Amino acid sequence: MTHSSNYRGRFAPSPTGLLHFGSLVAAVGSFLDAKHHHGIWLVRMEDLDTPRCVLGVADDILRTLEVFGLNSDEPVIYQSQRTAAYEDAMAKLQSRGVVYPCGCTRREIADSAVQGIEGYVYPGTCRSGMRPHPNPDVTTSHSTTPAHPQGAGRGCKADESATTTHSGQVAGYLPMGEGASAIRIPAWRVRTDRFPSPQRGEGLGERGGSFDDALQGLISQNLERDLGDFVVKRADGLFAYQLAVVVDDAAQGITHVVRGSDLLVSTPRQIWLQWLLGLTTPAYMHLPVAVNAAGEKLSKQTLAAPVDMAHPAETLWRVLAFLRQEPPTELAGDLPNLLSWAVQNWQPERLRGLKAMPALA
Ligand SMILES: [Zn+2]
Repeated sequence: MTHSSNYRGRFAPSPTGLLHFGSLVAAVGSFLDAKHHHGIWLVRMEDLDTPRCVLGVADDILRTLEVFGLNSDEPVIYQSQRTAAYEDAMAKLQSRGVVYPCGCTRREIADSAVQGIEGYVYPGTCRSGMRPHPNPDVTTSHSTTPAHPQGAGRGCKADESATTTHSGQVAGYLPMGEGASAIRIPAWRVRTDRFPSPQRGEGLGERGGSFDDALQGLISQNLERDLGDFVVKRADGLFAYQLAVVVDDAAQGITHVVRGSDLLVSTPRQIWLQWLLGLTTPAYMHLPVAVNAAGEKLSKQTLAAPVDMAHPAETLWRVLAFLRQEPPTELAGDLPNLLSWAVQNWQPERLRGLKAMPALA
């Protein structure tokens, strides 16, 4: 296939479970949009969340995609191997004075915060420094070195101990207050109230984020009011999803992000980070997500069944029907031709304004 356009798209699954109907919808949607525009389509493994990552699942996902004829045009990249790039971005944010360490516990935030659109709105407690601490070095000796030991391979570790214990991993951080048993490592939060270059403020609103989605229209958020300063590096040493996605989309030259509408809420944060890092903002298209009979998004948590690999052509047919593409009946059972037909006849505008639809069993 020739690539006559500058379009670069991607599908970025988290290898926490096998591909299910909902994730296949996102894969197919992003593939069709890229190929319809004669673009490049990439697969990226978002295996950053080390403890949740399941060994071997990434390979299973790639094999499943291959069965459907969805092959990455360039080598698959793994977020677990991209720590250096995230460190660079953190250093940039630090040098621009838009991030700060935060030692607040969930409990402390819950006690003083209001509910926002995604949990509590961080009230900005640590913006002017972490609160008084027995060790004065603590607010000045932060390192961006991950608290996790390196060498976890692709980041797929079976145990979840990394989220709860940090013994022996961290120097320079002492327990908060008398008798505290856990070593407190700060998370890093990005300010949502500060533009490094004010002339770029237009379009995002004074303090918010808004963008024009190809299917969902104008999406607006006020980041400071609706979410508060959000975490870019977690207290367990892992980089936050929001930062990693932004860094990787830029590194891979992604021009078009096509993904599920469940990520709409994340997009203004990602655009905010693109601005702070001086990166280009891609075009966004958020597809409706597939929901089960109870109206819940299909996911590992809602026990969504893995994609039917025994009858891939039928499965692809259902995905295309879900995407309202109305493939001709004579192509039923003919996977390669069904896929080429779908590329040629891709009409995403049929999904305009749809955020969730029942999965087709
Ligand atoms: Zn704090």
